[in-house]
Amino acid sequence: MSSTLGLAYLTTPLFPTGIRCSGLESHHYFLRSSARFSSSQEPPATAESTSESDATPPSESLPETKVQRFDRNIRPPQWDFRDKINNSNKQPFVSRLVEKLNAMVPLEMKGRIHAEHPYAPEIAAYTFPQHIFVPPTPEMLSKPPPHSMEKTPFTYIDTPSQLANLIEKLKSVELIAIDTEAHSFRSYQGFVCLLQLSTPTEDFIVDTLALRHELRDLNVVFTDPKILKARGFIFHSATSDLPWMQRDFSLYCVGIFDTYDACRALNLPQKSFAALAKQFCDFEPDKKWQLADWRMRPLLPEMMDYARADTHYLIMIYHQLRSLLLSS
Ligand code: AMP
Ligand code: ZN
Ligand code: MN
Repeated sequence: MSSTLGLAYLTTPLFPTGIRCSGLESHHYFLRSSARFSSSQEPPATAESTSESDATPPSESLPETKVQRFDRNIRPPQWDFRDKINNSNKQPFVSRLVEKLNAMVPLEMKGRIHAEHPYAPEIAAYTFPQHIFVPPTPEMLSKPPPHSMEKTPFTYIDTPSQLANLIEKLKSVELIAIDTEAHSFRSYQGFVCLLQLSTPTEDFIVDTLALRHELRDLNVVFTDPKILKARGFIFHSATSDLPWMQRDFSLYCVGIFDTYDACRALNLPQKSFAALAKQFCDFEPDKKWQLADWRMRPLLPEMMDYARADTHYLIMIYHQLRSLLLSS
């Protein structure tokens, strides 16, 4: 694997772009959701509440759980956010990072906004952790994977003290898979509802609605260059996750391995997470949950499993892909 190739997907510059244009004008979201919430007597919508043809057949013993893309009975969580959501369809979000942890170069302002991506110098200076170049062990590549989700410890995190414990734990972990689930039904930008994290031995789901204003504390791990010398962050197509984390939580990530970009570098015919999970882990995610209403609390068990699997299997997919890269 050439280092230039590696550089392309290990150190993607993470600029705050990426506006989603999926619906009506920005204010519609608030008007519609508040109107619906206050009229809770209305019956649930049917056209919007079920997924289309990609649903898998129901199992024989259990009735199939319906996917609701927009649940009108959910109290809009943004009513409790301390910040106002920028739902503009015209401009990208403006970075609001105030304290730059682990700074090699101080935060530079141009008037009231950041002169550049706050972590651009640190990302440019990032060097690859050595373990990325060490061929994976047979156990890392075994299929089906050695660590099933059922046997892996799982923690749901929705209090500040649980988040603090997670951060302490992550400080000594060298491989972290990351994914997010968002809600943007009838809005331009929406907001992140879940942050999933997996280490080689544990899975975590962080309730980012409950901890929206605390999540920036993860910067201490996500941007630490000293720790990063021995750490890799893994995403599958980080082009949404990174701007979303920056926009909603002022959370930045220095030095990533993107499995989607690795697929492109390898010219693999199938690059979706579902295809990779099937190919490398004998696991078939039920993608009908991708567009579920992730604001729901508590989450349905099926939604929890779906979200968790997105990072749980990513660690194994990463080992498979880097093995292919190392031998190519
Ligand atoms: P994923 O990366 O598959 O976990 O998706 C993350 C989030 O992206 C989901 O929670 C959705 O909010 C959004 N998303 C993914 N795929 C689509 C799609 N086809 N249309 C609209 N939103 C999507
Ligand atoms: Zn994702
Ligand atoms: Mn996901």
